[in-house]
Amino acid sequence: TIARSVQETMRLPPLPTIRDILKLYRLQALRQLSQNFLLDQRLTDKIVKAAGNISNSEVCEVGPGPGGITRSILNKGPSKLIVIEKDKRFAPALDLLVESSHQRMQVILGDVMNFDMSKMFSEDKRRDWEDRPPHIHIIGNLPFSVSTPLIIRWLQAMSERQNAWSYGRTRLTLTFQKEVGERMVADIMSEQRCRLSVMCQNWCTVKHKFIIPGKAFVPKPEVDVSVVHFTPRIQPQIPLPFKLIEKVVRNIFGFRQKYSIRGAEKLFPVPVRQKLGTEMYHLAEIDPTTRPFQLTVEEFGRLCHAYCKICDQDPRLHKYNHRAAREEREDFDSLYEEEQALLET
Ligand code: SAM
Repeated sequence: TIARSVQETMRLPPLPTIRDILKLYRLQALRQLSQNFLLDQRLTDKIVKAAGNISNSEVCEVGPGPGGITRSILNKGPSKLIVIEKDKRFAPALDLLVESSHQRMQVILGDVMNFDMSKMFSEDKRRDWEDRPPHIHIIGNLPFSVSTPLIIRWLQAMSERQNAWSYGRTRLTLTFQKEVGERMVADIMSEQRCRLSVMCQNWCTVKHKFIIPGKAFVPKPEVDVSVVHFTPRIQPQIPLPFKLIEKVVRNIFGFRQKYSIRGAEKLFPVPVRQKLGTEMYHLAEIDPTTRPFQLTVEEFGRLCHAYCKICDQDPRLHKYNHRAAREEREDFDSLYEEEQALLET
């Protein structure tokens, strides 16, 4: 009850609606920045609820815009809220919230893509990775062109326990285009199973919370929106470096409908492709005719370990990239061709 009364006194005073704010500060959504605003407080409250209990937590909101979700966050009584917004036009609207927030809110005008959060929260919030997640939450409704590359970048930061993950297993609640959100949680055999499913599920427990119809946004985007919640895993399912896993998973999903070994072979130079592809599947004890979308994360793990083993025997292979510039590929191919020829004589 004490916590509740603190939360009650923390509630925001009456404020103009977000619609009024947009008019007052003449904030037109910029199409080139893919800005779509949420004006309905029931929906912004629902997004914040999807993050879990944030009272007395520290929260970072990315891309607050005119501040709809921001208000819903403040009403839930976090001890601190830091918002990161790229578009300076929103500064006056956000400052209005700072003034009403009992010193709890801070605005950073900047680009979240390159932002380092490793010193942004309070020191006493730090937790060991193996401990329960810290009382720190990241929440945001960003443009899709930002949120999808950003989650990949953040998965890597998680894998290295950098950025916000230097504080422990910081949780995320983010929006994506509906189809992308569905891919993130897609299980084996599903139509949507892809590279993103394996990458997200390897490092996180991913929950698809709900869908917001596109028509709830102003201006309305062409697509519906998924709200997705991520909790970093104590142990990733595949305990190997991010770049290595990404390379193997990307290659294997290179040919979605074919046997998965076809993509895996592309990890190796042309002259040794078949031989090493077969060896990789043999070492991993995986049937080469399995299709990419039929492979579990655990099976991808066995394939990654097999790939590592093969590369350890010939470290030059680590550098091979079939999508590299043609010259670089051809150098590799001719080198291996000569070696194969020598072996055969
Ligand atoms: N969160 C608000 C809402 O739900 O109404 C605004 C949503 S709008 C789709 C995305 C917001 O993210 C815009 O305010 C935009 O300026 C901001 N934004 C876009 N790219 C960003 C970046 N790289 N870093 C920080 N903010 C960004």
